[in-house]
Amino acid sequence: MTTYETVIGLETHIQLNTASKIFCACKADSWGEAPNSNICPVCTGMPGVLPVLNRAVVEKAVLLAAAMHADSIQDLSFFARKNYFYPDLPKGYQISQYDEPLARGGFLEVPMPDGGQRRVGIHKLHLEEDAGKTVHRAHHRLIDFNRCGVPLVEMVTGPDLRSADEAAQYLIRLRQLLRWLEVSEADMERGQLRCDANVSIRRLGETILNPKTEIKNVNSIEGVRAAIETEIKRQVREVEAGHVIEAWTLDWDEETGTLRKMRSKETEADYRYFREPDLLPVRLDAAWRQEILRRLPELPLERKERFVRQYALPAYDAEILTEERSLSDYFEETVEAHAGGAKAVSNWMMNDVLRLLRERGLRAGQLGLRPAHLAQILQLVEEKRITASTGKALLEKVEESGRAPGEIVSAEGLAQVSDDEALRAMAGQVMQANPEQVAAYRAGKQTLIGWFVGQAMRASGGKANPNLARTILEELLRGE
Ligand SMILES: [Zn+2]
Repeated sequence: MTTYETVIGLETHIQLNTASKIFCACKADSWGEAPNSNICPVCTGMPGVLPVLNRAVVEKAVLLAAAMHADSIQDLSFFARKNYFYPDLPKGYQISQYDEPLARGGFLEVPMPDGGQRRVGIHKLHLEEDAGKTVHRAHHRLIDFNRCGVPLVEMVTGPDLRSADEAAQYLIRLRQLLRWLEVSEADMERGQLRCDANVSIRRLGETILNPKTEIKNVNSIEGVRAAIETEIKRQVREVEAGHVIEAWTLDWDEETGTLRKMRSKETEADYRYFREPDLLPVRLDAAWRQEILRRLPELPLERKERFVRQYALPAYDAEILTEERSLSDYFEETVEAHAGGAKAVSNWMMNDVLRLLRERGLRAGQLGLRPAHLAQILQLVEEKRITASTGKALLEKVEESGRAPGEIVSAEGLAQVSDDEALRAMAGQVMQANPEQVAAYRAGKQTLIGWFVGQAMRASGGKANPNLARTILEELLRGE
C-alpha cells in the first residue's frame, strides 16, 4: 500500500480588536447586537463617500508583523480594490492590500505534538475590510452589514504543516500570540479568528505539490482538525481509485461532520485588482514605527524559556504559566513580592489560583486576589502561622472580601494551633468520642493514625498544626 504525506497551508483572517472599523467611525465589534445596527454610508458603500484609514488598525497589524518576525515591514504599502459581486458586499469590491502589503515574510515557532518545534512560514501579512453576512432563511436571503468594514489581517502560511494535529497546534499558538499582543480577542466561535485550510496529499518522499482543495467555514480548532482529517481520507480514497483531485472549495458542516463542494476556485485574475484611488498609501515613517515597536512585549516562547532559566522551573510549569500574558505577569509579580522560592509560587498558582480562575471565568489580571496577597499567604504558610488548608481557604476569602490575608487571619482567629495544651485537649476529645477506633489502634491497627489526625484537624477547623497533632495523638494512643 502507498504511504501518503499530507501538505497543509492555512489562510487565517484575524479580526483586530480596535474600537472602530477600518475606514469609518462605526463600532467594530457587533457580536450579539441587532443586525444592521453598526453601519453608516461609508461601510455600506453609498455613492459619494470616502474611506479614512483607522490609525489603530495599522498599529496593531505592525505589532503583529513584528511578533511574526516579518522579514520586512514596509515603509510604504497600498490598498487595492478586489472586485467581485456578492450580495453582502455592497460596494461590489472589497478594499484589501494586494501587491504591496503591509509586511512580507515571517514565521511562527510552533511546538509540535512530538516535543519538537516547527517554524511555520508566512508569505505576507496584509490588511483588508470584512464583508457583511448573508443568512439563508427558508425562501429568503437576509443580509447583515454590521461586519462590513471590520478590520482584518490576513496571513497565509506556506505549505509547512503535515497533519491535522499540526494545523490545530498552529492555530492554538497563533491564538495565544494574538491575545498576548492584545491585538485580537481571537475567539473562533465569534469569527474573530477564521481559518481556511488548503489540503493536498502526495506520496511520501515526493516534493511536488499536488492540486489542493480549500476547506472553508470552520469555526473552531476542533472543527479544523476534524475537517482536515475528513478531507485527507477523501483524497486518499480518490487517488487510490485512480481519480484526480480537483481544486475545489469545500464547505464544512460542523453538525454533520461532512464536507460539501461549494464551487470551483476563483483565480486571482477573476478579481481584477487595481489600486484603491480613494486612499493614500500607508506611510510608516521611522518615528511612528519606533513608537509602535516600543509596545512589543516579550513573546510567549521567549518568556517560557526565561522562566525555565531564571527561576529553575520545570518546562511543564513554565508552559502553563505562559499560556496567557496576565498569568505570567501575575507569576512574576508574586515571585518578586515573595521572599521564598519561585517553585512554591508556581505550585500554588498551578493548583489553586488556576482553579479559582476557572471557577470564576476570570483572567489573572481580573482577580481581586493580587500577587501581593498570594505572596503574603505563602509567607504565612511557610512561617507555619497558618496551615496549608487555611491558606487555600484564604485565597477564596481574599478574592471575595478584597481584605489582606493577615487581617482575615486575625479577625477570624485562623492562626495555626501549635499550642501543646490546646492540641492535647482536642486529641483527648477525639479519643473519647471514638472508643472503638482507640481499641482497634491499640490492638495493632496502627494505620488508623491518619484517620485520627483527620478527626483532630476537623475538630480544629483546619487550624491544628498537623505534625504536632500527629505526635500528640501517637503519644496518647500508646496509652501515655
Ligand atoms: Zn460605518
